[in-house]
Amino acid sequence: MSSEGFGLPKESWRWPETAWRGHVDAVRAGRRLVPDRWTGGARVAVALSFDSDHETIPLRDGETSPGRLAQGEYGARAGAPRILRLLERYGVPATFFMPAVSALLHPEEARAYTRDGHELAVHGWIHERNMLLDREEERELTARALDTLTTVTGQRPVGIRTPSWDFSDSTLDIMLELGFAYDSSLMADDEPYEIVAGGRSTGLVEIPVDWIRDDAPYFTMDRYGSVRPHSRPRGVGEIWRDEFDAAYHDGGVFQLTLHPHVIGHRSRLVVLRELLDHIASHQDVWFATHAQLADAARSMLPGSGPDRP
Ligand SMILES: [Zn+2]
Repeated sequence: MSSEGFGLPKESWRWPETAWRGHVDAVRAGRRLVPDRWTGGARVAVALSFDSDHETIPLRDGETSPGRLAQGEYGARAGAPRILRLLERYGVPATFFMPAVSALLHPEEARAYTRDGHELAVHGWIHERNMLLDREEERELTARALDTLTTVTGQRPVGIRTPSWDFSDSTLDIMLELGFAYDSSLMADDEPYEIVAGGRSTGLVEIPVDWIRDDAPYFTMDRYGSVRPHSRPRGVGEIWRDEFDAAYHDGGVFQLTLHPHVIGHRSRLVVLRELLDHIASHQDVWFATHAQLADAARSMLPGSGPDRP
C-alpha cells in the first residue's frame, strides 16, 4: 500500500487522515495472547530461535567472493554443530529459520534440526529483500521456500520469519494464502499477539522479535565503515538476562534471535551458555519452539481456531 498507490503526494504532512490511518491499520497488533499460565503451569515461556542464514547473506547481495562466503560457511561448519550440542546438553528445543538456499547447501544440517526435535521454519528463498519484490515474485519465492524445506526434511513448516524482518505490502496476504500458523518478524509487543489487518481478525499469531534480543546488531560490522561493534559479549548477555528476568516477572515470553555465524563463535557462545544456566536456575520455565508457543497463544483466541477472513 504505497503512497503512490493511493494517488497521494509523497509528503506525508499533506495526507488526509484516511491515508495515514490506512497505512497504520494495514497490519496491526490485535489481542495480546498470554494465558494465565503457560504449558505445564509455567510462569514464563522461553523461545530460542536461530536464523541459519549462512552463505545467503552475501549471496543475496550478489557477493560471491570466497572470502565473504566463508564467513557464512562458518555458521554451518562451526556454529550450528556447536549450538546443537549446547541445546542437547540443556535439553531445550529451539526454532531454526532457514533460507531454502541454505537448506539446499546444507541438507544434513536441516535434517539434523528436525531429527533432534527442533523446529525448522521458513526464512525466505535466498534471504531476499522482499521490499524490492513485486507481489507475484515475493509469493513465488515464499512458496518455493516452503516447498523446498518440506522436501528436504519431509515435514511441512508451519512458521515463517521474513528475511531481515522486512514486511512488504503483500507479505501478510502471502502468509495467509500459504497457510502459515504464525509469523515471527514484527515488533509491536513483548508478548504474542494476533495480527489484525484493516481492523479484521486474521487468526495469524505473531511471535514478536526485537533488535535488542538479536545478536547481529551487537556483533556484526561493516569492514569498510568507521563503526565497529563495541559490545562485549558478556555485556550483551546482561541485556538478555534482564529481558528474561522481566519476562519472568511479567509471566510473559522471552524470545531470542541468534545466528550461527554470529553467536557460534567461541567467545560469544559462552554468553548463551551462561544465559541458559541463569534461566535453568528458575522454577516454572517452559522452553518452547515458536510453533508450540504459537499454539499456546492461539488457544487464547475466541473459538481458539484460526478465523480467517
Ligand atoms: Zn536472516
